[in-house]
Amino acid sequence: MLNKKIKKILIGTNNIGKLKEIKDLLPKSTKIFSTKDFGLSSPKETGNSFLKNSLIKAKFFSKKANLICLADDSGLEIDILNRKPGIYSARWGGARNDFNKAILKVFRELYKKDKNWKIKKIKARFVCALTIYWPNGKKINSVGKVEGFISNKKKGKNGFGYDPIFIPLKSKITFGQMKPNKKYKIDHRFKAFNKIKRFF
Ligand code: IMP
Repeated sequence: MLNKKIKKILIGTNNIGKLKEIKDLLPKSTKIFSTKDFGLSSPKETGNSFLKNSLIKAKFFSKKANLICLADDSGLEIDILNRKPGIYSARWGGARNDFNKAILKVFRELYKKDKNWKIKKIKARFVCALTIYWPNGKKINSVGKVEGFISNKKKGKNGFGYDPIFIPLKSKITFGQMKPNKKYKIDHRFKAFNKIKRFF
């Protein structure tokens, strides 16, 4: 199928960390709009999966701005916490989306599950679902994942969200310690984006 390349797109997120990362994935020639350009606040994420929530956001912002919209829904799944926080990753940070608070909650929940969690390998992954939604109702989506472990303490100041406690497989450092350019080339968003980059 021939796809017309997207030249102009709205990034459907109010999360500054994500906005920066998605901007860096797109070709320099693409004209990018943010939700701030239209004064739009985010819709309620009522879906029960990353994919459904990314569609809710992409559709909502596309309809409001009458532009093609790319939206992401992403989060951290920790196996021994039955894949939580999962779609609740942002919500674990409370009303103010406080990442320190969310990380403390992860540590608390891990401790409740296993008092010795700090000396064990706690398997986890970041998941990212991306949806592109066109004003005419056309939509496409993709999912990307990066596997790893939870660090027993916060390390590094780069990135956002749970980056300071996530150590990707085959690495000794957290995403928070990694240079952004390096993280961007291996993470869940990059993998999801690779599957849809033919549209740009
Ligand atoms: P939402 O997709 O806007 O509902 O929020 C996703 C949440 O997952 C973010 O607020 C972060 O807490 C977390 N998250 C998603 N992707 C990343 C990432 O690349 N690094 C760190 N945290 C992330």
